[in-house]
Amino acid sequence: MQFLIAILSFSNLLLAISTDASAHGHDQTAPNLIVIMTDDLGYADVGFNGCTDIPTPHIDSIANAGVKFTNAYVSYSVCGPSRAGFITGRYPQRFGFERNPQYLPNDPNMGLPLSETTMAEALGKTGYRCGVVGKWHLGANQKHHPLNRGFHEFFGHLGGGHRYLPEELTLEDSAAARNENESYRTLILNGRTPVKTTKYLTDEFSDAAVRFVEKNKEQPFFLFLSYNAPHLPLQATPKYLERFKGIKNPKRRTYAAMVSAVDDGVGKLLETLKTNHLEQNTLIFFLSDNGGPTPKNASQNNPLRGNKGDVWEGGFRVPFAARWPAKFPNGVVYDLPVSSLDIFATIASLSGATPDEQRPLDGVNLVPYVRGEIKTPPHHAIYLRKFDQQRYAVRRGDYKQVVPFKGGKSQLYNLKNDVGESKNLALREPEVLAELEALRKKWSAELIDPIFLGLIHLPSFQKKQNRKTPEKAGK
Ligand code: CA
Repeated sequence: MQFLIAILSFSNLLLAISTDASAHGHDQTAPNLIVIMTDDLGYADVGFNGCTDIPTPHIDSIANAGVKFTNAYVSYSVCGPSRAGFITGRYPQRFGFERNPQYLPNDPNMGLPLSETTMAEALGKTGYRCGVVGKWHLGANQKHHPLNRGFHEFFGHLGGGHRYLPEELTLEDSAAARNENESYRTLILNGRTPVKTTKYLTDEFSDAAVRFVEKNKEQPFFLFLSYNAPHLPLQATPKYLERFKGIKNPKRRTYAAMVSAVDDGVGKLLETLKTNHLEQNTLIFFLSDNGGPTPKNASQNNPLRGNKGDVWEGGFRVPFAARWPAKFPNGVVYDLPVSSLDIFATIASLSGATPDEQRPLDGVNLVPYVRGEIKTPPHHAIYLRKFDQQRYAVRRGDYKQVVPFKGGKSQLYNLKNDVGESKNLALREPEVLAELEALRKKWSAELIDPIFLGLIHLPSFQKKQNRKTPEKAGK
């Protein structure tokens, strides 16, 4: 009997040791994680999705040596909420982050609720070193500062965009910027310290990403490389513009130059991983935070319908690829719907990070899916709600329900045959539509109303919208 107790205690001890080891990140198999997020990049503006006028060889190498996802969605079709979803692994509509926040450094409610757990907070507890480089956009108040949301290092800007030329960054104190426009001119923050930068902003961010990896290579790390490019303003340097003399449309030319600068940066980062023998066990995701706003930055979402802000595919189906040489197959195309919310769930499974039980993740661990070990779809359905316009989308299998505007009749599309959402099947297949409508209602019942006003409520924004058509004003 005593012997049995001894065995049991010994196995408990082993269990305790192994739990402890995984809780502190000693599991050597847990990969480093790098998420490269671009801002307002069109679905069709990377080589791996067929782009021909902007070469993106380094970005493409992530897809070519890993997995290209053709049906990947973000959780919202504009920047802030999409990022809030990604960083928490949860639909942002669950916690009221459903608008692009206003830049209000004095408002502690204008940002990601402190009750939510960020990916950095969860990974930090398992021994990961976490850094964000680039755009934050999850709140300008100190309470929301990346260093207060689980990140150990930050090099970037707090607002939703930024000017790219160093001579235009003239406002020293980020807290003194009175609105989003002014925030575009603040000095870049290194941690909490404003620093005078000297290079084109995209190059600054690429170099900071390389520095982060060099500095933290001895321990597991999570780098969120959050480029603000190619978001407005359209600005590029002669070095990059030179490459696109053949593009006649000046907007598209500058946009191409901006994307090309990102691609160079991705190349530098991949090279750094290789030189430091980190390539094998670093899991990299590449994506855009929402669809391209074609009229603004000349991005392209074809063959998808619509743009940034829409519930059409062009609003929230994004370029998405992942590479992990140690575990992922090489050159696989994955067509079932996945979500940016899956990134948190994937790294949580791999690292042993434990999300908050009260706030369950909406994503799944993608590893067994891309390895072909699970053949069923990762998600029962993919959802989008835009509260202010009461627009919805529900994707399940090949079908998609769209509520195009407030009070509008539901439409139904079969994306397999009609990726451009041109043939409304609502009357022809009412039973499918009813099934999706039931899912929409069930999911919507789990959501709350937005907890803060957004950029769209500013008088300056509304004045601009009034000059547009009513359909556009809804964005
Ligand atoms: Ca964006």
